[in-house]
Amino acid sequence: MKIIYDVAVIGAGPAGTSAAEVTARNDLHTLVLDRRRKVGAPVQCGELIPTPSEARRLFPNSTRMSKAVNVPAEFITNQTQVIRLISPNGKSFEFPFEANIVDRSRYDQYLADSAENVGAEIQLDSTVINRSITNELKVKTKNSVQTINSRLVIGADGSKSVVARSLGPRFIQPESDLSPALQYVMSDVDIDPTIVEMYFGSSIAPGGYAWVIPKGEGIANIGFGMRRSIGGDMTPLKRYIERFAFNTLAQKTKNAKILQRVGAIIPVGGPLKTTWSNNVILVGDAAGHVMASNGGGIPTALCGGQIAGENVVNHLTKNASLSLYERKWRSEYGLELETALQVLRVADTVMPSDTLTDICMNLAGVRFLEPLIRCRLPLPISLASKTLVKALNWFL
Ligand SMILES: Cc1cc2nc3c(=O)[nH]c(=O)nc-3n(C[C@H](O)[C@H](O)[C@H](O)COP(=O)(O)OP(=O)(O)OC[C@H]3O[C@@H](n4cnc5c(N)ncnc54)[C@H](O)[C@@H]3O)c2cc1C
Repeated sequence: MKIIYDVAVIGAGPAGTSAAEVTARNDLHTLVLDRRRKVGAPVQCGELIPTPSEARRLFPNSTRMSKAVNVPAEFITNQTQVIRLISPNGKSFEFPFEANIVDRSRYDQYLADSAENVGAEIQLDSTVINRSITNELKVKTKNSVQTINSRLVIGADGSKSVVARSLGPRFIQPESDLSPALQYVMSDVDIDPTIVEMYFGSSIAPGGYAWVIPKGEGIANIGFGMRRSIGGDMTPLKRYIERFAFNTLAQKTKNAKILQRVGAIIPVGGPLKTTWSNNVILVGDAAGHVMASNGGGIPTALCGGQIAGENVVNHLTKNASLSLYERKWRSEYGLELETALQVLRVADTVMPSDTLTDICMNLAGVRFLEPLIRCRLPLPISLASKTLVKALNWFL
């Protein structure tokens, strides 16, 4: 007998499992598919999540973000208090920023367990290779290709989303906005456990930045994200991370060991213009829900997943329009995502030159840099940036 699920969620990351928890809890027959063999592994993340009070400051319009990022204490390995920005010529700018550093592999598993506990089925080692317009999914498993049917599909399958691709070109994030990122997890790193560092510079991370995120007990996530479209040459990514970890951070890493190497993509092109169709919703990285100026996407994945789940429930049980999903996430965190993109586009105009970056960071100072990292534009910069981007577009 052919099973037709109410909801098929593609991707068991924080967006997908948060959505599945809501749909399954509301008695919708929910299946989560993920190509990985183990939820959350390998970890491809800096693991930094703003604390609930910081999230309230980051997303002042959101009624639910602070609750969404309230990670249970057992998954928090460290708490940081400060962000330090380091300009290409080595000048530091610091401001307070409270974050939890989370063991993501265990936390992602906990989110998946929470969905499973209320009835969601989770099927791993299952790669969705195709979705038809009627939501027939072709799924490659270890030994076969399965066909799965679902009334509604939630695409939570990350930046290279197969679900988004199945909806057509306007749902596909341009390659130039997909930032490749590499990270080493290192032990015996000599760092202040309360400070997160972000390094800028064309030889460190062209079109992006490099980070040091202390996980506690001398372990740190040390990585970088870049875009070749913004001043990057064809230097292999591995050379950037080696240079950063062992030259730029030589003092901190002289006794350090590499525990793990990870690589992945961060989508920094801002949210898709449309994140739903008549029988699909896109959420998390698949919807471009990442703060483009800092690459953070866990808070919006958690919050957006819940909103997606609720709207799918209302759609399938009360015939409510799926467009309400888009209206809701935009009211919760849309402004911050759009502002972060604006910040990035302005940064793109200065980042290819280290001298310009140094001048701009010096001129801005902590008073202006802090709101930029928090996805807010101080008014004079907002006006100036629009004019600058317009002028440059005209000039180029
Ligand atoms: C190196 C790096 C560091 C980062 N650091 C931070 C950070 O410190 N803080 C922060 O907030 N954000 C960070 N991010 C971003 C953050 O990891 C993502 O925004 C977040 O994980 C998005 O959640 P998601 O559920 O949308 O996608 P994901 O967590 O990527 O989950 C998508 C899931 O879909 C599955 N999948 C993909 N395609 C298919 C398919 N065809 N079939 C079946 N399954 C599929 C994948 O296996 C995966 O499990 C970082 C990203 C990277 C790459």
